Amino acid sequence: MVKCTACRRPAVAYLRYAGHYFCKKHFLSLYWRRVKRHIYRTGMIQKGDTVGIAASGGKDSTALLYVLSKMFKGWPGVKLVAISADEGAKGYRSESVKVVGKHCKRLGIRHEIVSFKKEFGMPIDKVVRVLRRKGETKGVCSFCGVLRRYILNKAARRLGCTKLATAHNLDDEAQSILMNFMRGQTDRMARLGPVTGVSRQDGFVQRIKPLRKIPEKENALFVLLNNIEIEKGSCPYRGEAFRGDVRKLLNIMESKHAGTKFTIVETFDKLLPALKEKQKGEKPNKCGMCGELTSGHTCKVCQILEMIKSGKVVSKRKRGSKAAGR
Ligand code: SF4
Repeated sequence: MVKCTACRRPAVAYLRYAGHYFCKKHFLSLYWRRVKRHIYRTGMIQKGDTVGIAASGGKDSTALLYVLSKMFKGWPGVKLVAISADEGAKGYRSESVKVVGKHCKRLGIRHEIVSFKKEFGMPIDKVVRVLRRKGETKGVCSFCGVLRRYILNKAARRLGCTKLATAHNLDDEAQSILMNFMRGQTDRMARLGPVTGVSRQDGFVQRIKPLRKIPEKENALFVLLNNIEIEKGSCPYRGEAFRGDVRKLLNIMESKHAGTKFTIVETFDKLLPALKEKQKGEKPNKCGMCGELTSGHTCKVCQILEMIKSGKVVSKRKRGSKAAGR
């Protein structure tokens, strides 16, 4: 039987990048130490903050909910509120939102649910139908991600949050860095990092990523070892092609050269101040349609909604009447 490097008890995990085996106790203590260190070193949560936790019910966001609850609940200076975005993918999100609700009840955290249907008048299922009718070839996630960020930000602002914590893990962050690098998007790179956003601007709730230094597999192990219920189903539209390719590439590199993902993120962090400095003078505009901040004239949300609206013109009823008039 393989034993824990620290105490010789039976091991539950082998962290290749560290070259050590860990028992349950030592794995969990390492996990906590690393999350706490990241939060304190970056100063991402301060006294007086109201932190919105983007909670989807999956392993990463559920780990985040428990971690922040254990660290900050009861602290007089920090308030927590969980926010779930229900995109409206049939048979998927409604279940995971229920799981979040159960955890919040147990932890005594307020739980807010916002939905695409209420905010945009249609669930993601309908958005997908319109996109497919229009022959749109981009992955659904590129559209859904923009809409989701928008409603989470809006809800966080309404709830008086000063920070919005997302469950991005080490794998997500390494993928985003590499994707932006491959696409040459330096402006987007400046928006990565532990505290997202070039500067704090009106209407934009700063995003923080407390689990950014934790590999995806370790979040899964954290919830498993703590016996925490998670929603295991996955979104039917998941699968952004480019991210999927980068994920595979990084996993191959990690299996051949353990620690690659850490190296990418840590090297990027050394470059981040320079990237942020370069973007500092660039002031965002207000979207001409909705007034939200944007780098162009019309924000991406309005662009997507306009595109969907124009797609609706070819509705079944209209197609039917056109056909009848031929
Ligand atoms: Fe939206 Fe993609 Fe996430 Fe599904 S996987 S909820 S489509 S971002």
